[in-house]
Amino acid sequence: MSAGSTYKRIKINVTGIVQGVGFRPYVYQLAQRLSLSGHVLNDASGVEIEIEGEPHQVDAFLQTLQTSPPPLSRIDTFTHVAMVVTAEESFTIRRSNKGMATTMVSPDMAICDACASEMSESSDRRYRYPFINCTDCGPRYTIINSLPYDRPFTSMAKFTMCQVCETEYRDPGDRRYHAQPISCFDCGPSLSMLDKAGHVIAEGDKTIAMIAERILNGETVAIKGLGGFHLVCDATDEEAVSRLRLNKQRPSKPLAVMFKDMESIKAVAEVTEPDERLILSKERPIVIVKKSVSTSLAPSIAPAIEKIGVFLAYTPLHILLLEAVDRPIVATSANISDTPIITDEADIVSKLNSVVDVTLTYDREIVNACDDSVRMMAGREPLMMRMARGYAPKSLPLKRPTVKKILAVGANQKNSIALAFGEHMILSPHIGDLVSLEAFEYFERTLETYRHLYGFEPDIIVCDRHPEYETSKWAHLAKSRKPELEIMEVQHHYAHALAAMAEYELDEKVLAFCFDGTGYGDDGTLWGGEVLVADPLLFERVNHIRPFRLLGGEKAVKEPRRVALALLFDTYTFEEVQQMDNPTVKSLSSTELRTMHTMWSRGLNAPLSSSVGRLFDAVASLAGIVQRVGYEGESGLLMETIAESSEELTAFSYTIEGREIDVRTMVKELLDETSEGIIAARFIAMLSALILEIAEQHPDLPVVLSGGVFQNALLVATVTEALRSQGRRYYIQHETPVNDGGIALGQLYHALQRSRRDDE
Ligand code: ZN
Ligand code: ZN
Ligand code: FE
Repeated sequence: MSAGSTYKRIKINVTGIVQGVGFRPYVYQLAQRLSLSGHVLNDASGVEIEIEGEPHQVDAFLQTLQTSPPPLSRIDTFTHVAMVVTAEESFTIRRSNKGMATTMVSPDMAICDACASEMSESSDRRYRYPFINCTDCGPRYTIINSLPYDRPFTSMAKFTMCQVCETEYRDPGDRRYHAQPISCFDCGPSLSMLDKAGHVIAEGDKTIAMIAERILNGETVAIKGLGGFHLVCDATDEEAVSRLRLNKQRPSKPLAVMFKDMESIKAVAEVTEPDERLILSKERPIVIVKKSVSTSLAPSIAPAIEKIGVFLAYTPLHILLLEAVDRPIVATSANISDTPIITDEADIVSKLNSVVDVTLTYDREIVNACDDSVRMMAGREPLMMRMARGYAPKSLPLKRPTVKKILAVGANQKNSIALAFGEHMILSPHIGDLVSLEAFEYFERTLETYRHLYGFEPDIIVCDRHPEYETSKWAHLAKSRKPELEIMEVQHHYAHALAAMAEYELDEKVLAFCFDGTGYGDDGTLWGGEVLVADPLLFERVNHIRPFRLLGGEKAVKEPRRVALALLFDTYTFEEVQQMDNPTVKSLSSTELRTMHTMWSRGLNAPLSSSVGRLFDAVASLAGIVQRVGYEGESGLLMETIAESSEELTAFSYTIEGREIDVRTMVKELLDETSEGIIAARFIAMLSALILEIAEQHPDLPVVLSGGVFQNALLVATVTEALRSQGRRYYIQHETPVNDGGIALGQLYHALQRSRRDDE
């Protein structure tokens, strides 16, 4: 190429998720196609490109790169400046400067279509290769030890590339150019099968057929996935599924089921178009969908509820396995309840010995654990119930850089953490409920990972106001060790509202409905039915559910009847309650009734709460739907399942006095109703009605819906439908969890604004 006098040269800087996602080979190929010379390289903030050539070709390059960048990339900023023409001859990919930390770690990606079809091609050298990947797919976060994202710093380091792989890796025209986990049968990880004692009983390709046989035989097997092990069994075998439940100590919470294709999902579930889009999205999350009336799946996969979590095979290994099994499999995180997902076969052997009959593993280490993500359509809203594989770590650009480094440690349930430094904000994958020592260690390990990856040392730590949260204690301990640290506390429900504001980058005043289980309120009671007028810096509690007692404190969470009874005591005399022919009352002996009444009247071990989550529980108990729950949110799911849809139904009544929303009229109306389905429907209609009524009192404010209660699809559908028909502006999180998984993001958003204000 000779530099005509008309040639043009420009320098482009791109930031965002542009490293480790095939950006440079894409740029290389585009430059080749347009006969441009110049170079591309990764720098500290992203990618730098210089191109030179015919002006219209240069323009075409700019246009194409901005409108159709590589599929896994995300461009946050794109700037270019004119340069002096240098008469450069060719286009090259330059080496990144060593020692420069790349800023973004991208999440693991499900196998792409190109790799999936290559793997099924019998003439291909990677035919049936369980670890096939390319620049568009495969592991990232779960194999990274340190940055930059280069093979020597991943758990692929110990596998030396063979000649053929190396050639592909070095060829900018190849779709595996710089695909760090590139490998093949000759040089990559391999499979092995372990017995209960952890001894290798088989190796290589044949293990897939052998493990499939075990599954079909009704056994429980452990299989190493991307971010951890799954416990797997035949999803159509009731005996196998109930045995897995029993052994995993998971009595009722639904189990996720993995399928080989969309068709087999549709054979057992009613999949809507939006469901299908979520299921097929490149992240391949678990999607909660409606079960078909007649289904071949074992009943105990999701007892008593009409929904199931389904997902497609998302790694080459899973595809091979499902082809061999040829029926859906239960694929649930390998752990014992309340502990983190297991990533190491030694832990399968030592901790799950009584559960797992045989293990399928491979010799590439999982460096960072990552669970499966969970999503669901609620009305028209695609919710993120658990943000993990495929979505997290999630990095977002900050419009204005932060001077202070900020760490938000999140809530105690569904914990995740969030950090901000420079121009970046990063959300960790789901960590889990911090209710066991193992879980807390996982929290600390995750912190350590980010500290190490980004050289991140916080100036500010943000935590919940709850003094008993492990995360709050951890934050205050950190402060006692390092006095110059600044600690900020953010009220739990305000953090829920903030999470939604963060996702939509709102900095105006909003009317936020924050309905969830319980969180520590500013007045020391347990909040959870809050209406806040809030902006990123301040909030005012404008309405809340009239507090009721949780008889027995924590016990009331597992036993809805303890909450229901408190509501009865609030509404009727003790004598009246004793006489009642009601499922709540009948489930208790007269001695128990008396004891609970004493607790209620004296406020002994009976904290006050305004939680809507607990209200769901109470209504479920009063209606006779459930008296003891196995997992948080179960009563809501059960009610959604049985709620009868009828235009005739009127919402239960409530009254608003001052700031308090009083539901005692609801309790009275409920006792006259006998049908469980009608009670459930009228209750959900009441919540919707009160949201709409209060929203009407603040016509100028956009409405925010946040908190775990807004995972109730029926409630969300009803409320958002009404708001939409009124032309009302409303926000509910799509990309981040509305449940406590979003708390860290909310905390971070507040701290960012506050530290900015303090600096100004
Ligand atoms: Zn691929
Ligand atoms: Zn190879
Ligand atoms: Fe919450």
